[in-house]
Amino acid sequence: MTQHVQVEPTAPPRWPALRRVEYFWMIMGKCNYRCPYCVYGLSDFDRRKVDRYFTAEQWLSRWERMHEKYGEGNIILTGGEPTLYPEFSEMIETISKLHWLAFDTNLSWEPARLKEFLSRVSPRRVRIETSFHPTETAPEPFIEKARMIKDAGFGYINRLVGHPNILADVPKYRGMFAGAGLTFVVNPFQGQFDGREYPQAYGGAERALIEGATVGVEGENANAPHKEFVQQILNRESPKGRLCRSGYQHVRIEDDGMVYRCGEYSTQRWEPIGHFFDDGLELWHEPKLCRSERCEWEYRWLVDQAERFHNG
Ligand code: SF4
Repeated sequence: MTQHVQVEPTAPPRWPALRRVEYFWMIMGKCNYRCPYCVYGLSDFDRRKVDRYFTAEQWLSRWERMHEKYGEGNIILTGGEPTLYPEFSEMIETISKLHWLAFDTNLSWEPARLKEFLSRVSPRRVRIETSFHPTETAPEPFIEKARMIKDAGFGYINRLVGHPNILADVPKYRGMFAGAGLTFVVNPFQGQFDGREYPQAYGGAERALIEGATVGVEGENANAPHKEFVQQILNRESPKGRLCRSGYQHVRIEDDGMVYRCGEYSTQRWEPIGHFFDDGLELWHEPKLCRSERCEWEYRWLVDQAERFHNG
């Protein structure tokens, strides 16, 4: 007698158990600063004046949906200045119960508001990264607030853009941050200044200053990815034709809800993955080849860079 074996219909592909999706979320372009090197201010369309497209409630419902679909992820929240978003504190408190979250801020908050925020969220669920913009704020009050973050037990790092006009003051700022026990990183400036294109136009001494500027990090291992990131911006290796995990393990969500695999694809409007508010949104199921000639910090998602950036 022939035995009929019941064949189960093919199950939809399951996400690898170890995959944890990183969402780079550009919540809103609006910003209260006007830094001379800001990429959002360099074209006729100034994104720093653009208010939110979606309410906190709308975003929250989608983060719940992503949690149901892909489990807990890592959110990297940025803007503009994300803390200008209405109901920012309440929203972060709720989202951070679903997903681990890091955000960057120019730290223009009032100390009382910062204190209240720090008491609301857990340092185990939220990391705070600051950008010090010396054309917009003095270092002393900034460092005082940064210390509040550190003293409350939060993971912390500060960044400064290595604009040619600012570089001469880097040793002074580095000393001030290091003196307060705060991590300080200089990101290379990318753009035009004085008729020259950066970061290519940096001289040897300027490069050395940028490369040597990371201080106060908790140990070499924590420091390593930042150094590699700076190296990638300075060296400008092309990722074109290489397999990349963006779209699959890392995606970029724009303020208008469009989802792309990364920043370069978003800028070029290449191959949108979908819309964040579409119930049918599916991330890619595998790494795909990169078609871009350039890549900045997301270079770490290239398959061949996993070991270098400790994110395999
Ligand atoms: S290497 Fe960079 S530019 Fe290319 S797909 Fe990956 S993240 Fe995007």
